[in-house]
Amino acid sequence: MKVELHLHTSRYSVCSTATPTELMEALVAAGYQAVFITEHDTLWDPWELEQLQGQFPAIRIFPGMELSLPRGSFQHLVVLGTHDRRYLEMSDDPAAILAKARQDGCLTILAHPHRWEEASKMLGEGLRPDAIEYRTSNQDGPTAELALRTAAQLGLPCVNTGDVHGLDLVGRFWIETARPLQDAKDIRTMIVEGTYCNCARQE
Ligand SMILES: [Zn+2]
Ligand SMILES: [Zn+2]
Repeated sequence: MKVELHLHTSRYSVCSTATPTELMEALVAAGYQAVFITEHDTLWDPWELEQLQGQFPAIRIFPGMELSLPRGSFQHLVVLGTHDRRYLEMSDDPAAILAKARQDGCLTILAHPHRWEEASKMLGEGLRPDAIEYRTSNQDGPTAELALRTAAQLGLPCVNTGDVHGLDLVGRFWIETARPLQDAKDIRTMIVEGTYCNCARQE
């Protein structure tokens, strides 16, 4: 299953240049079968996501978020598979967020750890997400290689994501899962057990 793990729409992320409808159309056209919408420091309401899902039966649309830890900082954690708004109030406590996500069965991914120095602060503090971003539209070339090395050193899986902020970023980096995702929480199991592969478009 072709999956996008990290995507921003113009509805809730000011940095995104494409609407939810435009993005879902582009993902379907590019052969994606599942997507997690991960806006900056906010969540879609369940009914709203359901409405979008109704418009696009060809792709599974799952909830997620990209949290800045703390708010306004350049350390970003993607949390996948939940509508729980309590995460949004916990941005001062990365350890508590990681523990809650583990308990809830939600996947945590440290976003672009080598994009900025501050981006991987939690690793220096001994905190461990479930996975680390490898190649994305915001982290390719040498910074992606650094991320791969960091993941290997810590024994953590690394994942390709689009970190999509516009239509031009759809279909560059993604993962393929060995089995279809039945439920949003399946993603954690698959990444942790390694039943997926990282993919990138040949440039
Ligand atoms: Zn980010
Ligand atoms: Zn992002």
